[in-house]
Amino acid sequence: MLDLTIIGAGPAGMTAALYALRSGLKVGMIEQGAPGGQLLKTEKIDNYPGFADGVLGMDLATNMFMQISNFDSFKLINDTAKKITRSSNSFIVDISSGTVESRTVIIATGGYPRTLDIPGEKEYSGKGVSYCAICDGFFFKDKIVAVIGGGNTALEDAMYLSSIAKEVYLIHRRNNFRGSKILVDKIKSISNVHLVLEKVPVEIKGDTKVSEIVVKDVKTESITSLFVNGVFLAIGQIMNSDFVKDSLATDDSGHIVVDEKMESITPGLFACGDVITKDLRQVSTAVGDGAIAGQMAYEYLSKL
Ligand code: NAP
Repeated sequence: MLDLTIIGAGPAGMTAALYALRSGLKVGMIEQGAPGGQLLKTEKIDNYPGFADGVLGMDLATNMFMQISNFDSFKLINDTAKKITRSSNSFIVDISSGTVESRTVIIATGGYPRTLDIPGEKEYSGKGVSYCAICDGFFFKDKIVAVIGGGNTALEDAMYLSSIAKEVYLIHRRNNFRGSKILVDKIKSISNVHLVLEKVPVEIKGDTKVSEIVVKDVKTESITSLFVNGVFLAIGQIMNSDFVKDSLATDDSGHIVVDEKMESITPGLFACGDVITKDLRQVSTAVGDGAIAGQMAYEYLSKL
């Protein structure tokens, strides 16, 4: 039997593996794609400490994976986790090709940004359309940008971008924000943030880069164009947590609730990275969560 099964080989899962392996645990890692998670979809990361000129997502993923695959006690299982059940002294993870049994489990399955699926969104992704203000905001210094959404992420993104960009349009489909009142009050006091309410984006246009977003009024259906250099989508994330939603505490948006040890309501079942409830989803925070989860899984087993 394995000591630890880690589900998901993104930066959180790979860091959890590193800490657990260095503590002497026998670790199996279930991953349905290539190791790296969202790192593989990020061309260059400019805000990961230690890389003054940035680091390619692919390079960081490859190096993280090489570091853990050097351990003889590490095993990569290329498969999809379907379900987790607990027996008296172990966890059983159902995968497509059978089951994996271990004494403890870390879920690091992450999520992916919800998309609008409107014309131009895919075409201009990386050419003005972004799903991460903290990663890409820097490129829009003194430019005009739009943020889409009405949750805390959109409010925080608009606030963050207001200090970089010249003008920020915050486009939301309702008159009331889903995000917290304190953030809404702050946003309303920032002079270069303009609220565009009860409007939904219908198209993103441009030439080689984004130059325009077309919005429709939800009541009158009238169409307006806003001339922008960037569009930041903050309309929520879809969590890869469906396979545990019956057995674990997840919040309304599917995030797994954990304590400061990254442990869920089920003792011995940990979660880390983007899939947990938290405020900042970055490679650097995923790595921090993973280190805690890997170490705490080891401490949990030591106390058994
Ligand atoms: P969220 O709370 O789910 O908000 C998503 C927003 O996008 C909503 O305003 C929603 O509109 C809008 N939206 C969804 N689909 C849309 C579509 N197709 N077209 C137009 N608009 C659409 O997501 P989030 O802001 O990423 O936050 C996720 C979780 O993290 C929340 O629990 C949040 O509180 C938490 N968080 C907390 C902090 C903090 O406390 N500092 C910071 C960031 C995130 P409707 O409102 O009309 O549904």
